[in-house]
Order: sequence, then structure tokens, then C-alpha cells
Amino acid sequence: MKAIALNGYGFDNVKLSEVEDPRPGAGEVVVRIKAAALNRLDLWTLSGDLKISHEFPHPLGADGAGEIDSVGDDVSNLKPGTPVVINPGISCRGCELCRAGEHSECPRFRILGEHLPGTLAEKVRVPATNVFPFPGHLSYGEAATFGVTYITAYRMLFTRGRLRPGEWVLITGIGGGLAQSLFQLARPVAGRVYVTSSSDGKLKRATDAGADAAINYRSEDVGKTIRGLTGKRGVDMVVDSAGGESLIQGLRSLRKGGRVVIAGATAGSTAKLDLDRLFWNQLQVIGSTMGSDADVSDMLRLVGGMKLRPVVERTFTLDQGVEALRHLDSDERFGKIVVEVL
Ligand SMILES: [Zn+2]
Repeated sequence: MKAIALNGYGFDNVKLSEVEDPRPGAGEVVVRIKAAALNRLDLWTLSGDLKISHEFPHPLGADGAGEIDSVGDDVSNLKPGTPVVINPGISCRGCELCRAGEHSECPRFRILGEHLPGTLAEKVRVPATNVFPFPGHLSYGEAATFGVTYITAYRMLFTRGRLRPGEWVLITGIGGGLAQSLFQLARPVAGRVYVTSSSDGKLKRATDAGADAAINYRSEDVGKTIRGLTGKRGVDMVVDSAGGESLIQGLRSLRKGGRVVIAGATAGSTAKLDLDRLFWNQLQVIGSTMGSDADVSDMLRLVGGMKLRPVVERTFTLDQGVEALRHLDSDERFGKIVVEVL
């Protein structure tokens, strides 16, 4: 089959490659991919900086949707031809945390495309527990986007952050795919949604999409501006995927007893916390990553109920996969990049 695969690290070694067709083992299915969607994660894998040893050629891509192609001997609940979206988080299913339903806390947690052959391919092999039916209003290309970022966003907001209807939320770095997913899932529930970005263009698009206020963190002090907007109160929850100074600004934006949920550290993996502020204001810093089966199915039910659609910025074909990845690497994007496979 054809796949956009690593044959070494760096852009020069990513190409449309011929790789062996996957076959389903016990408890597994092979999905014939109709569309894949890109995430920043694909660029980190591509760079080789993650220090994971891959067997080449290694197909990239975490997110995908398609139809069941074939199933392992012991898989009786899925039939070839069934449309599915893939949960790219693969867990062992046997450990204490998996059995407690906390699949993304599994010590052996892995992600398609990052650790395992990915979805930028004609077919991908996954455990049967990793495929889900998707809401009928979505095309395959749209369904493919409901992977890494929406699963992560759902868990951050509702499972880890316990967002309650009416609460005020600050989402940092609104240009990114995760922040956009956070915005779409939080907007119908939150009383107010504030966003930050360094790009006035992205801030304008966010207010057009329904953000209550948009703050340029390059030219404004986020904590001060949030205090001004909330009558000195602050927000109930900050969701952040940047870390570093963004996390610090987030903590300054919280009300007493508020919480920041963090699921990334693109702006810096260390931050100097003011512990006096932390305990005196009774703040919580909560980590989150990917999601459990329940997070995935609840996210898809919310998407179905609200008839949510992703913002798809551009669609490529599998043959143009390398170009799609290069486009992902450019800064002024707004929305998901989809790669149609068949
Ligand atoms: Zn496990």
C-alpha cells in the first residue's frame, strides 16, 4: 500500500512510500483510510527529536477515519464496510489504570504515527477497541479531525477540568489545533470564553466565532486584562497547551480557587511558579493528556448532538502528503489540514 512515511528523520526523508499491507492480529482491525488529519505531533515525530526508535519506512499520522477493511479472528462486533473514526491513543487494556477506564494514564500508552504505524496510509491496523462510529452529519474528511485535539480538549475541559455550565474559561494560543478544539467544545457550555494569541488576525477570527474577548499577549498583560474584563474576579478555568510564560499568565488570570489544566509545553517545559499565590489563592494545576474510551465516545456524542463541524483550512490528497506536512509547519494557519486518501 501507499503511505506518507519516514525513511529517516527530517523533511528530506519523508516521502510517498510503498509499505507492506497491515493484517489484523487477535483483537485487532484494519481500517481502510478515507481521510487522515494532521497534528503538530506529526512534525515532532518527523523531526526525530522524540527519541523514539522507528522501523523504516514508518507511516506518519495519528488521526483518521475510514471503513473497516478486515478484522481479527476473534473480533465479532465489527464488520467490513462499517464507517469508523480512530482513537489514536493505544493502551495495553490489561493494567490497573486501563481496567479502571483511565486509558491515557496507561504506563504503556502509545500514539498512532508517533510510536506505531500511522494513518497517512491506505490502511492502518488498530485494536478493535480503538474504532468508534462517528456522527452522521460529518464527511470522512471532517470525521478524521475528531482525533488527537478533540479527544485531548474534551478530557481537559470536562474530565480533568470538570467544567460546569456557565463557568468562565480562558483558552491560550487560539491559533493552534488544540485551542480551536477547546474553543468549539467549551463555547456551548461556558458562560464566557476568552482567548489569547500573538496574531491579531487569529484574535479577530476567534471573536467572529463567538469569543467574548480576545487578548494579544504580545501587547497586553493577560492577567491584568482578564481582571479588567471580569470585575477583578478572574476566570474559573484556564486551559493551556503552551506552558512556560503562558502558564504563568494563566495562573494570574484565575479567580480564587480556580484551576489551570495544561496539556502541552510548546512555549517552554519549565515555569517558575509563585507558590505563595498558588496556596493563598487555592489554585490547582492539573495535567491532562489524550483521553479514555469514555472521553472519546462522550466527545463524539457532544459533537453529534451539537452538530459541530471542524474548521478545515485545506484538504490535500495522499500524493500531496509531504506538501500537507510542510503546510502544517507554516505559522499563519487557522484550522485543520485534511489528507484525503481514497
Ligand atoms: Zn494499560
